[in-house]
Amino acid sequence: MRDRLKIVIIGGDAAGLSAGAQIKRLSPETEVTVLERKNYISYSNCSIPYILSGKIASMQDIIHLTPEVYTATRGPEVIIAAEVIKINSSQKIVLFKKGGNVEKIHYDRLIIASGASYAEASYSLPSFVPVPEQFFNAKKMIDDGGIKKALVIGGGFAGLETALELQEAGVGAVILEGERILPGYSDDLRTDTLAYLSDRNIEIYENTLFHGVSQDGKARTSKGVVECDALFVCTGVLPNTDFIDIAKVKNGAIKVNYRMQTSDEHIFAAGDCASYINTQTGLNEYRPMGTYANRAGVIAGESALGFASRGLKVFGSQVLKLGEFQIGRTGITRSSEEIISEKYTSHKASALDAIAGEVNVRLFSSRKGIIKGCEFWGHGDALRRIYLLAALLETPLSSLIDADLPYSPLLSNVKDVIQVAALRLNSKIAVI
Ligand SMILES: Cc1cc2nc3c(=O)[nH]c(=O)nc-3n(C[C@H](O)[C@H](O)[C@H](O)COP(=O)(O)OP(=O)(O)OC[C@H]3O[C@@H](n4cnc5c(N)ncnc54)[C@H](O)[C@@H]3O)c2cc1C
Repeated sequence: MRDRLKIVIIGGDAAGLSAGAQIKRLSPETEVTVLERKNYISYSNCSIPYILSGKIASMQDIIHLTPEVYTATRGPEVIIAAEVIKINSSQKIVLFKKGGNVEKIHYDRLIIASGASYAEASYSLPSFVPVPEQFFNAKKMIDDGGIKKALVIGGGFAGLETALELQEAGVGAVILEGERILPGYSDDLRTDTLAYLSDRNIEIYENTLFHGVSQDGKARTSKGVVECDALFVCTGVLPNTDFIDIAKVKNGAIKVNYRMQTSDEHIFAAGDCASYINTQTGLNEYRPMGTYANRAGVIAGESALGFASRGLKVFGSQVLKLGEFQIGRTGITRSSEEIISEKYTSHKASALDAIAGEVNVRLFSSRKGIIKGCEFWGHGDALRRIYLLAALLETPLSSLIDADLPYSPLLSNVKDVIQVAALRLNSKIAVI
């Protein structure tokens, strides 16, 4: 009798658990073992900022499945508190630490889904990175009156969400960003976001570097001293990939092809530890996002079983809700020789003013009228615009112009901003 295929997965969250579940769906007889260094699995990193305002009240609100429930409902075995320290790929062995011992496990196929971590440093001020345990500690300090003003370092998505949630918890928030907030987004979008945050009394210093904390507990920056009670460090993550010697990109993320296969044909990688190929540009990109972790995990599972894959679609789709203000993007959002764009603003987010404020869209297409990308921002629903545009990328503008989109006065305008932008862009092409 042929031995059962053995697949080992490193990491018990979005990517790893998606891979494990898909393998068992397609091939229940395959032996699957998930190794996770924490004491728990299946948690929502994306919810972490909401701990500060109390929308997330306890670890139970963050954890979706216990190891027992995951094994019973999805199939793979899970070993928690098991930290992988080395891969011996010539012998196909994973070495891991468990309760003070070093143990080993053999694999036929290995899936690395070890995610990424925030770099931590110690300062003479309380400082927190976005991991659940640390944000629950911060929340306790806020509730005890120990944090009245906080410095948030980093003006990306996690930094902005953290600042908004701090402010909702009654804490004054100052954001420090070494370059400009929302890297990769247009100046128009950034300017309107800055104006909205400033209306919400959130102070922002761009092009300002953090130089540490002085002995007397003051945060030092390239533009002077900021008095605050705590630091929230949201400066981006680094892939957890030290335990393996394999082809990687500059930041240490593992290079994968469209099937999530690495430079070793028996090893696959998915999630925040991996770097993907952008579907439109063909370039390698590091995009540590839950959306990719879940889908890439499924594909890694299929590929590890030897199934042909449709491949991971990577267009850089994102959305963010900052109070009443929402932003989002998908696809290529920079004009160039080949790519033109049209911005359209509607001063009404819905026909009956049920939604206050304006909505903006910038639509990008090739000179031949193929949809390439979209940015959306303002007081309307970013999610539905980005959902639709992500599905229509690389199709002709007519697919958007002719789409049978519904309307109701409380929810929208009779012609949605994205359709008006498409009409305008189309007529621009006609006269070029
Ligand atoms: C504050 C914040 C907000 C976010 N918001 C969004 C959002 O709105 N939308 C979105 O799409 N994404 C968002 N993300 C990103 C999203 O959470 C991640 O992309 C996703 O969790 C990645 O999943 P993963 O499985 O690759 O990695 P992880 O969730 O990091 O899981 C990897 C697991 O591997 C384990 N591990 C690591 N090393 C080892 C080892 N040596 N041995 C054993 N186990 C190991 C880790 O303990 C961890 O449990 C956010 C992230 C943060 C931090």
